Amino acid sequence: MAQICKIISLELLTQDVLKLIVEKPENLHFNPGQAVDVSINKPNWKDKIRAFTFTSLPTDNFVEFIIKTYPQHNGVTNELLFLSVGDELIIGDVFGDISYKGNGVFIAGGAGITPFLSILKHLQQQNKIANNILLFANKTKADIILEPFFKNLLKENFVNILSDEKLDNYEHGFINKTMLEKYTASNNIFYLCGPPPMMQAVEGFLIKLNINPENIIKESF
Ligand SMILES: Cc1cc2nc3c(=O)[nH]c(=O)nc-3n(C[C@H](O)[C@H](O)[C@H](O)COP(=O)(O)OP(=O)(O)OC[C@H]3O[C@@H](n4cnc5c(N)ncnc54)[C@H](O)[C@@H]3O)c2cc1C
Repeated sequence: MAQICKIISLELLTQDVLKLIVEKPENLHFNPGQAVDVSINKPNWKDKIRAFTFTSLPTDNFVEFIIKTYPQHNGVTNELLFLSVGDELIIGDVFGDISYKGNGVFIAGGAGITPFLSILKHLQQQNKIANNILLFANKTKADIILEPFFKNLLKENFVNILSDEKLDNYEHGFINKTMLEKYTASNNIFYLCGPPPMMQAVEGFLIKLNINPENIIKESF
């Protein structure tokens, strides 16, 4: 049953990424990595349902979403930019294919980081961050969501790839087969989430690197 929940806070994390803290629906159950159907409780917006991933933990007494906004779409994410504390969201069904299956390589593009944020926070809570690796693709350094958090959590296992900016200590370009090759020897689980073109490219490289498709856990944004 969908529930109406008030927005507790809104904060811009980057120029176009919004962090929303919202009241927690009653009897909400989700696994880290899962998403939920969300709409805005305003006339003309109630039936425009979009999927967003929980970035809070199941044990938190609020829910958090981190949402990349697309003003040019004139859709739901643009409308979120005009909301204030006390406005309401309608939170519906929980779903999603990504969940933690063991130590591996997380590969995210832009807002595709959200299921991995949830999973990594959950591992941190359990002191099980282990040797997980995060490859995070963005256009520029300014687009990297929560860079200090991931750096602190994963240290040298946090690798940034920037397509539109050249910087020391950051890989440049799109994620390619050579970049992935060095992680295939000791890891056989790959978690993949991002825009469809990036997903297709990365999955193609992983298959060429003889990764079993069953060990590629993915969701397209
Ligand atoms: C399981 C799942 C979980 C997700 N979790 C998250 C998350 O945690 N955070 C997050 O940021 N995103 C997440 N997403 C993606 C998110 O759902 C979409 O970004 C969101 O639906 C975009 O909504 P929108 O209404 O702004 O735009 P859209 O629904 O993409 O588009 C609205 C309208 O804009 C027009 N339009 C579309 N593309 C363009 C374009 N390129 N130029 C101009 N007009 C265009 C079309 O007419 C369209 O009807 C998730 C997606 C899935 C499937």
